[in-house]
Amino acid sequence: MTQTALSLIHTDQPKKWQEILSDLITDPKELVQVLQLDLALKPASLAAMEQFPLKVTRPFVAAIEPGNWQDPLLLQIWPSQAEEAVITGFVADPLLESDANPVPGLLHKYHGRVLLTAVPHCAIHCRYCFRRHFDYASNTPSRQQWQQALDYIADDNGIEEVILSGGDPLAASDRQLAWLLSQLEQIQHVATVRIHSRMPIVLPQRLTPVLRDLLENSRFRCVLVLHCNHAREISALVRSFLSKIDTNAVTLLNQSVLLADINDNSKILEELSRTLFSLNVLPYYLHLPDKVAGTAHFYVSRKEALKLMEELENRLPGYLVPKLVVEEPGKAAKTRVR
Ligand code: SF4
Repeated sequence: MTQTALSLIHTDQPKKWQEILSDLITDPKELVQVLQLDLALKPASLAAMEQFPLKVTRPFVAAIEPGNWQDPLLLQIWPSQAEEAVITGFVADPLLESDANPVPGLLHKYHGRVLLTAVPHCAIHCRYCFRRHFDYASNTPSRQQWQQALDYIADDNGIEEVILSGGDPLAASDRQLAWLLSQLEQIQHVATVRIHSRMPIVLPQRLTPVLRDLLENSRFRCVLVLHCNHAREISALVRSFLSKIDTNAVTLLNQSVLLADINDNSKILEELSRTLFSLNVLPYYLHLPDKVAGTAHFYVSRKEALKLMEELENRLPGYLVPKLVVEEPGKAAKTRVR
């Protein structure tokens, strides 16, 4: 008998990861207390938090060095006053995603591939996020609207790959993911399901045996793309959960965003690639940051990025060098930066 994704789920799994998800740090005062930081040295921006609240998991905070305002993990989540700067060219929707949104919850930007914005929230708010202004309220499909998205995919034989994006798709329960996978399994022309998630990095307990079963036993070739920007994010906890994934069944890739003062250094990028490889994860993309309003302080120019890539190519074998890419509105694929 063929095992479908849904048949692997009998009951909701234990709540451990969900308990962690419901106990996020959202108050800057708590964060500075946990990290023994002096708030007077770097006040949180209330304006930035109003637009995009502080949100971080405790496992991610545990990997931050106490007392260090310059910690590269902390810089990714702290709502700084730099976000208030209004810079020409940095806009709410630089990728014009609203133009590629034919039905709720589905983006059709690339040839042969569609993105489902499966879940409208994340376990962490990365301050550089290109979807920090995204209209999730209009893109959180009800079951009925899911049918519209599934019909859209079923009606287009050219769609070979479905990308679960977000928010963070792994913030969905295993039951929800199993339902979605089982629906997609019925569309014969879909061959690959790709999941883009930061959860394995920021809440590694999410990689439960049930989830691993779902991915490893799906009829699809599943690709899990981690979003990890710095080797320091790969804690012993992350390592232990990631190493349980059967990489014969699930392809593990990583994409990073090139971020000023966080990973814009070839030694840091080299260490990231080598650490990922030790866990059977191949570096896939290194993204130039998108020009999103409130994120200009993270921006790294093309010229600097190309210099870094040259250094990286001199340090690493080719298979550990991620492709430097940028996303441009209206293009059928990401653009290589050379
Ligand atoms: S996890 Fe991804 S989608 Fe969520 S805030 Fe971070 S970058 Fe944005």
